[in-house]
Amino acid sequence: MSGIRITEYIVATIIIFAANYAIYLLFNKGLARNAKKLQMRRYLIASILSMLPLALSQIPVTSAAMLFNAVLAIFCGATFPVIYHICNHKNSPDHDHRIDLAYGIYLFGWLTSLRIFISALEPIIGNIAATVFYSLTGLVAFAVTMLAIVQWGHFFIYHSCVDAAGIQAAQDTDRNEANEFIKSFPTYTIALILFVILIAFAGCIAGENITISNRPTIVGIIASGIWAISMCKYIWIGKRSLFSRTGLVRTYIDVKEYSQQSKLYIDEMKTRLAHLTVTPKNQEEKPHTYIMVIGESVSKEYVSAFSDIEHNSSPWLKECKADEAHNIFFAHAYSCANQTVPTLERVLTERNLYNNKKFHESVSIIDIARKAGYTTHWYSNQGCIGVADTSVTLVAKTCDVAKWTEQEVNKVQYDGSLLDFLDEIDPTKNNFIVLHLMGSHFNFINRYPKEATQWGEPGIQDNMLNYLNSIHYTDSVLKKAYEYAKERLNLSAMLYFSDHGCIPDKRRVPQFDGFDFLRIPMSLHCTDNYISHHRERFNTFKANKNLYFTNDLMYEVICGLLDVESSNFNLENSLAHKEYVHTRDTLLTNNGQTRINEDMAER
Ligand SMILES: [Zn+2]
Repeated sequence: MSGIRITEYIVATIIIFAANYAIYLLFNKGLARNAKKLQMRRYLIASILSMLPLALSQIPVTSAAMLFNAVLAIFCGATFPVIYHICNHKNSPDHDHRIDLAYGIYLFGWLTSLRIFISALEPIIGNIAATVFYSLTGLVAFAVTMLAIVQWGHFFIYHSCVDAAGIQAAQDTDRNEANEFIKSFPTYTIALILFVILIAFAGCIAGENITISNRPTIVGIIASGIWAISMCKYIWIGKRSLFSRTGLVRTYIDVKEYSQQSKLYIDEMKTRLAHLTVTPKNQEEKPHTYIMVIGESVSKEYVSAFSDIEHNSSPWLKECKADEAHNIFFAHAYSCANQTVPTLERVLTERNLYNNKKFHESVSIIDIARKAGYTTHWYSNQGCIGVADTSVTLVAKTCDVAKWTEQEVNKVQYDGSLLDFLDEIDPTKNNFIVLHLMGSHFNFINRYPKEATQWGEPGIQDNMLNYLNSIHYTDSVLKKAYEYAKERLNLSAMLYFSDHGCIPDKRRVPQFDGFDFLRIPMSLHCTDNYISHHRERFNTFKANKNLYFTNDLMYEVICGLLDVESSNFNLENSLAHKEYVHTRDTLLTNNGQTRINEDMAER
């Protein structure tokens, strides 16, 4: 390998790496330091690996065939992150589409290694067979290019990126509707679209047929063959492949899985509700409202109302705590798992660590509230469709109203934006409202507006201080929700708890990693109206506030709070009843694998 050539490949590698990393930094938002470092490494390795077949084969990087692949690959890799950022950077505090760019780099490596390998076979298999293979590669290139073109087309027509709602609509569209849709465009637009498709098709076939004038070296041919075949799985095959994890394909898969799950959940609903009886007791006569606020990643230790810490991270909650006549703070609440989905599947339904009921077969708090005559509302600042959201969304969508900030135009995705939704609620009705916060989800600094910074420098990542700021911001949202609902919606009571905890200076792992991740804040804020009608419930909650509790039993807390009798209400799980049987020695957490009494810090 000559000196000039080596420099050429090194320069090309650096250009590929730098271009992709620059796009990553420019077209993503709220990236944590760690993420930046990890992606730097990922793209560097990808760039080196993808340049290898070319360098070992001694094919010039400036050869037309290679430049064609480079342009195509960066177009395919950058499209989703760029369009997403343009459309969402104003409202989304953070987004990180790292995989698309990595996919683009490896796509370059795959296409070039394939080209080199086939060109080496040409003398053996003949011109015609080689052309067929080149054209097949061209078809693959055309298919992936079309995915990018569709996104740009969507962007120019609708000024938005293809999202879950759009994909869902497309999946639900039958042939007649599709025909009608196409006919709704003017003829010249259709002609233009067809022209673009034709150009892309011809371009990809021709591009992959460009002759490589240099003969690759033997080492290069072997390396290219091995590269193209061995990387197939990593790039293309299966759910964990890069291709399946790119923005558009990921969304498509998520929507498809959601639709299947949703069908199952709705089918099971009939069975679930067939024998469900719910009878409200001692109901307040005038219209009234309950609010349940689900927090995110808040550990009790960092909430000043629960823990004696230097920073007053929860001034409002602390104020509430002093008013014991209306507020109950639970001293020993735990999460039943350290991940959102396994926790919330149990929080929201009868399913808990003791009954082994399946999620789909379990009556939910929304089923209970609806049957008890409440108009149900779900307002969420979390994601709607995706592996981390599906089961929560299934329950949410059984509400009369369910809205996500990410699906609203011009809604900044801070938890405070959820408060605007409260204006829509009819105060003459009995309402049950769920507010699902983004709370203190990592990256903490992205959870509150800069002006809400209490500690540390605004905009500077300092996990501990950012975390405290996010809790302080949650506290202000709780205060506003409570005051608004008391003023406008005849509030009865508001319940707040976190799904699970978090340790700001410790990386979260999927496995059990100690009780610090499981001790959660939980508080109940009642009005006089609630207390006068449900004195027994209020007093029992109060009497039980120092008992040990895990949030898979939240379903019964809601049944108890709403003060209902029901066929699907086990009083032994209810913190609102003297029948509550659980103790520090019997309670489980960590999906049933760990006993609460192993927590030595909390006795
Ligand atoms: Zn969570």
